[in-house]
Amino acid sequence: MAKYTPMIQQYLQIKAQYEDAFLFFRLGDFYEMFFEDAKRASQELEITLTSRDGGGQERIPMCGVPYHSAENYIQQLLAKGYKIAICEQTEDPKQAKGVVKREVVQLITPGTVMNGSLIEEKENNYIASISDFKDGSFGFALCDLTTGEGRVTLLTGEWQDVLQEFAAAQAKECILEPGLDDTYKKDLTERFQVTLSYEENSTMTDGLKPLVEKLEQEKLTITFGRLINYLLRTQQRSLEHLQAAEYYQPEAFMKLDIHSKRNLELVETIRTKGRNGSLLWLLDKTVTAMGGRLLKHWIERPLLDCEVITVRHHVVETFIEQFFEREEIRELLKGVYDLERLAGKVAFGNVNGRDLIQLKKSLQQLPIIIETVKKLNNPYCTRLAEAIDPCEPLAALLERGLKEEAPLSVKEGNMIRDGFNEQLDQYRDASRNGKTWIAQLELQEKQSTGIKSLKIGYNKVFGYYIEVTKANLHLLPEGRYERKQTLTNAERYITPELKEKETLILEAEEKIVDLEYELFMQIREEVKTYIQSLQEIAKKVSELDVLQSFATISEEQQYVKPQFSKREIQIISGRHAVVEKVMDRQLYVANDVYMNEERELLLITGPNMSGKSTYMRQLALTAIMAQIGCFVPAEEAVLPVFDQVFTRIGAADDLVGGQSTFMVEMLETKHALSKATQNSLILLDEIGRGTSTYDGMALAQAIIEYIHEKIGCKTLFSTHYHELTALEKELNQLKNVHVKAVEENGQVVFLHKVHDGAADKSYGIHVAKLADLPDQLIDRAQEILIQFENGKQELSPVPHIQTEESNRKEDTIEKDASQTAEEPAQLSLFEAEDKSVKKKYSSQEEQLRKALLDINLLDMTPLDAMNTLYELQKKVKK
Ligand code: ADP
Ligand code: MG
Repeated sequence: MAKYTPMIQQYLQIKAQYEDAFLFFRLGDFYEMFFEDAKRASQELEITLTSRDGGGQERIPMCGVPYHSAENYIQQLLAKGYKIAICEQTEDPKQAKGVVKREVVQLITPGTVMNGSLIEEKENNYIASISDFKDGSFGFALCDLTTGEGRVTLLTGEWQDVLQEFAAAQAKECILEPGLDDTYKKDLTERFQVTLSYEENSTMTDGLKPLVEKLEQEKLTITFGRLINYLLRTQQRSLEHLQAAEYYQPEAFMKLDIHSKRNLELVETIRTKGRNGSLLWLLDKTVTAMGGRLLKHWIERPLLDCEVITVRHHVVETFIEQFFEREEIRELLKGVYDLERLAGKVAFGNVNGRDLIQLKKSLQQLPIIIETVKKLNNPYCTRLAEAIDPCEPLAALLERGLKEEAPLSVKEGNMIRDGFNEQLDQYRDASRNGKTWIAQLELQEKQSTGIKSLKIGYNKVFGYYIEVTKANLHLLPEGRYERKQTLTNAERYITPELKEKETLILEAEEKIVDLEYELFMQIREEVKTYIQSLQEIAKKVSELDVLQSFATISEEQQYVKPQFSKREIQIISGRHAVVEKVMDRQLYVANDVYMNEERELLLITGPNMSGKSTYMRQLALTAIMAQIGCFVPAEEAVLPVFDQVFTRIGAADDLVGGQSTFMVEMLETKHALSKATQNSLILLDEIGRGTSTYDGMALAQAIIEYIHEKIGCKTLFSTHYHELTALEKELNQLKNVHVKAVEENGQVVFLHKVHDGAADKSYGIHVAKLADLPDQLIDRAQEILIQFENGKQELSPVPHIQTEESNRKEDTIEKDASQTAEEPAQLSLFEAEDKSVKKKYSSQEEQLRKALLDINLLDMTPLDAMNTLYELQKKVKK
C-alpha cells in the first residue's frame, strides 16, 4: 500500500470498511470512485471510465459524478440493489495539513433510502431483519425508515413461514446475523430482489430502550435491536422518528400465502405486476398518502376478529348514509400532508420551508376535521376524532414564523415572516432603507444629468453600478463617476456613496440569510418535539381515510354489508369486484353461492372461458373484502370468517409464465392441504392439468377426497375432467355445479351463469371456432373427437369413478364395490350409443387375443417375431 499516494491510501482504508458498497469519495465538486468500484459504476451508470496516477506503477481506474447531480446516480444504483457509502471531506481543505480528512457520513441502501424515485407515495419501504434462534423459532422485524414504523414477531414454525412474512412485506433489504445459515441466505436472494446486510450488534443501548419497552420476549428485542443498530450505524444520526416496535401475531390475521395473494391479484396483477387491475387499485379511494399505505396493509391482512370487523362495517355504513359529511371529510383530508414521512424528514434533518408550510396547513385542517367527524355520530369515529391532537401551539408557531411561499432551499433566506424576530426585522430595515436610498439616487441622477435611460443595477461581481448608454455619455459631468466596466452599448460607473450603501446592504443581507437559517433550525427543533404527536395524528387520519375509501367505493359499486355466520355461505347475486369494474357493468352476470354443511365442496365444471375461475375468485375476494371491513359486491352476503384462503391454479392455466411447472403446482397444493383447517377456504382451479390426463385426473380425485375426508373446509374445485362429477354420488358434502353455455347455430354462447349439477359437454372445439381457427381444422377436430369418444370405452378408467345408477345412494367409499361396478356400466353406456361398432370391434379383439396367446415365444427367432407382428398388424389395419 505504501506505493500509493496518501490520498489513495486513505481511500483504500475507508473502502476496506465498506466492501459491499460503492464508495462515493468526495474530491472537490465530485464524488470519485476508484479501482473495481470505478469499473462497475462506469458500466452500471454508463459514465466514462478514466484513470489517474496514484503513485503505483499502473494507473488507477477512476470515474466520478458531480456532487450536485449525485442524487440521480445514487437512485439508479439503489434501484439495482446496491449500497452507496457517502464519504465527505470533514475538514476545510484550506486548513488541512496533508490529506484532507474524510469520513463516511451515511450508507444509503435500498432499505434506508429516504427520498427520491424509489419512495412511492402510497407504498411503505420496508427493511427487514431475521434472527434464527436455532430452536425452531425465528424472529422477524420490519421497519420503514421513512415513516418510522416498526413491527416485530416471533415465528415458531418452519423457515417457509419466515419467507411468507418476508414476501408479504416486500422488503428491499434484509438485516441478518453474520452466522445465518447459507441455505437461508440463498433462499432470500434467489426468490426475492433483496439486498442482504449484516449486523452483529443486537443489544439496545439505554437511549433506545423505549423503542422496545413494549416487547416482552427477549428474542423480539434481539431481532428488533439488530435492525435498529444497523440503521443507526449506517445513517449516523439520531433517528428520533423511530416508533416503538409493535408486536404482532401473524395468527391474528387471515393467512394469505404468496401464491394466493398473487393469484387473487390483491395488490398487483399477475400479468403486469402493476397496481392497475388489482383489488388494491379498485378499493383505493383514499385521498392521503398515509391512507393509501394503510389500505394496502389492511388488504394484505384481513382480520379474524368478528367484533373488530363489524365496527369497521358500521363505520362504512355511517359514511355511506351521511354522504355530505363524508364528502366534506374527503375534501378536508385532501389537505392533510404525509405527516408520517414529514416526521421522518424532520428527524433526518432534510425538511425545508415548503414542508413546514404543508405541515402548518395540515394541522390547521384538523380542528374542522375533528368537528365534522364528530357530526357523523358514530361512536368509533368520535373516538378516533377525539384522539387527534391538532397541535395548536405548533400550528401557531409555524403560522407566525414562516412565509407562505418558502423557497426549496433553506440557505437563501426569504422563509421567515416579518415580525417574528426583532433582530431580523432590523436587518431587513437596514437592507430596505439602503435599497430605497439607491432608488432615490437613481431618480436624482436622472434629473441632474437629464439622461432618462440612466439606471442603477446590481451584479455579483461589481455590486451596484450606474449604467449609462454610450449615446448619452456626453451628458455626464466630469469627475463625478468612476468607470468600472465597459459594455458594447454602455458604460458602468460607481461612486463612493454608492459603495458605502452597498456594503451596508450586503452586510445586512448576509446577516439576514444567516439569521433566517438559524431561526429555521430553531423552528425545526421545535417541530422535532412534536414527532410523536404527528405520528399519532397520522394513524387516526389514515384510518379515517381508509374507512371513507371503503364507503366511497361501496357506494359507487353498490356493495352490501356482509353478515357473518358460523359455517354457511349464502351469497345472492355476487360479483367479481374487479372484473365487473373493468368490463361493462351491465354485462357482468351475477351469481349466487350457496354452501353449508351439506355443500362443503363444490365441483365446478363448464366449458373453457365460461367463467369458472372468475366464479371461484369472486368468492375469495368477497371473503377478503368482508374481513378487511369493506362492503361486498352482492345483493346479500352471509359468510363465515375464514382463517386462511388458499388459491391454487393448475400449471397449464398459470399465467406467471414458465415459472410454474407441475412440480410447483403440486408443491403449492401440498402446502395448502397441510395448512388448511376446517375454517379455511380452498380454491383449486383445474389442478392436475400439468400432467397427462389420467395421471392428472387421478390426482385431482385424490385431492378432492383428501379435502373431503381430512380437512372438511369450504372448497371450490374447478375441473375440465367431467369424469370427476361422478364423485357427487360418493362424497356426501360434494356437490356439482356447472357454468352454463348454450349452443346456438353451432356456436357457443357463454351465459356465465352457475347452476347446480354437472356440465354435460366440453365446448373446447367451439371455443376454437370462436377463435376463428380454419374450418377444415375444426371439422377434423370434430371427427377426431367422435373417434375419441368411441374409443374411450376401451381405456381403463380411473379407480372408483362410477357412472352407475345403483351406486348413487351409497354413502361410504367402497373401493371393491366400485371396481366391480365398472364393467357393466361401461357396456350399457356403450351399447346405448353404437351397437354395431362395438360388435365389430369385439370380434376383432377376440381374434387378436387368441392369436397373441397362441404364439410360442420360446420357439421363435427375432425374424419370426417380426413377421408375426407384421401379420397381426395387417389384420388390425383392415
Ligand atoms: P374459465 O375459468 O371457465 O375458463 P374464466 O373465469 O377465466 O373462465 O372467464 C373467462 C372470461 O369470461 C373472463 O375473462 C370474463 O371476461 C368473462 N366472465 C367470466 N365470468 C363472467 C360473468 N359472471 N359475467 C360476465 N363475464 C364473465
Ligand atoms: Mg379458468
